Amino acid sequence: MCENDIKGEVESAVRVSLCGPNLKGNELRYVSDAIKSQWVSNGNYITSLEKAICSYVGIKGTVACQSGTSGIHLSMIALGIREGDEVIVPTVAFIAAVNPVRYVGAYPVFMDCDNSLCMDPEKLEEFLNYECVFDGNILVNKATNRIIKAIIVVHVFGNLGNMDKILELAKLFKLKLVEDATEALGSYYVHGPLKGKYAGTMGDIGVFSFNGNKIITTGGGGAVVSNDNRLLEKIRFLSGQAKNDPLYFVHDEIGYNYRMSNIQAAIGLGQIEQIEKFIEIKNKNYEIYKKFGIELLPFNDQIRSNKWFYAHLTRKRKDLINYLLKSGVEVRPLWMLVHLQKCYCKFQSYKIEKARYFLERIVNLPCGTDLCKSSLMHVVDLLKKF
Ligand SMILES: *Cc1c(COP(=O)(O)O)cnc(C)c1O
Repeated sequence: MCENDIKGEVESAVRVSLCGPNLKGNELRYVSDAIKSQWVSNGNYITSLEKAICSYVGIKGTVACQSGTSGIHLSMIALGIREGDEVIVPTVAFIAAVNPVRYVGAYPVFMDCDNSLCMDPEKLEEFLNYECVFDGNILVNKATNRIIKAIIVVHVFGNLGNMDKILELAKLFKLKLVEDATEALGSYYVHGPLKGKYAGTMGDIGVFSFNGNKIITTGGGGAVVSNDNRLLEKIRFLSGQAKNDPLYFVHDEIGYNYRMSNIQAAIGLGQIEQIEKFIEIKNKNYEIYKKFGIELLPFNDQIRSNKWFYAHLTRKRKDLINYLLKSGVEVRPLWMLVHLQKCYCKFQSYKIEKARYFLERIVNLPCGTDLCKSSLMHVVDLLKKF
């Protein structure tokens, strides 16, 4: 087993982690520099990281923040989503994609996924056409009589669904579009009408996460990106406690302490320098699993995916998970669907079918960028013996 895996006394206790961080570039050097300079809260690393993200994904502006969740929260506020509004969200998502809808007092409407695990544009279209009605320029949900303001899509596991169609629908129905691209930094279309477009850059706002398990990490952190400077200025303002006068501390609005620290940004800069290498490894390991006969859910063939997470489908999900965990291999099921969660089951959901199918079958296999060949083959062998 490789040095990164936690070694046990016996073979069966050998641990292979699901998706750990990989911090072997300039991270330590940049963090030391930030500490030596005494610039730990504000500082140049924040600006450098924001610039690096802009040029990497091809967008006008970036605001670094404390987490993906805080980025989505600020996006909701900046887009004018208020108490009593509705936001269309996916049920196949980490719950953090939906919680910010509730933070602002709005209501989620849950959509199904298609085979990409991302939001099903056909069902979305059906819902918008038949379950909603325009009152002037305002879209109203017939069942609840509430105003629908926005859609949040999640680029699940680094995949991109049919964004072309979703963008068209958002425009047609005058809805704001937020891309939860927390798992998809570096994924982009290589074919089709959106060729060259990166995850996070197609909607009104895109959000990335730099949590420890994401493709790059700052320990905890995130970033909001947009081509709309007005939106970004609002987000930057709100993330720094909405300070109208920084000398006399005048605040005309209620703000948040959601700014990223210079220490976090120093780690992030060291990380983004290596992102293409990480994506290469993710892609290579994905192919190795497949070469040895392990079936994995495909990614959209119109994109270059960052292949953040690999999804293996099995009819014996629970048995496989228990077997691999007992063998020291960290795996996990798909998140419990958000519309089935205790805090969300009372809200509207629209014809959720495919999500249930995937919920019952998906097992995420080890996919870390420090996963060595011997560990990977160990997982393959275990899967074959199952
Ligand atoms: C990780 C993640 C988030 C939240 O990001 P944090 O930085 O952990 O707050 C939101 N949505 C999805 C789909 C995620 O995977």
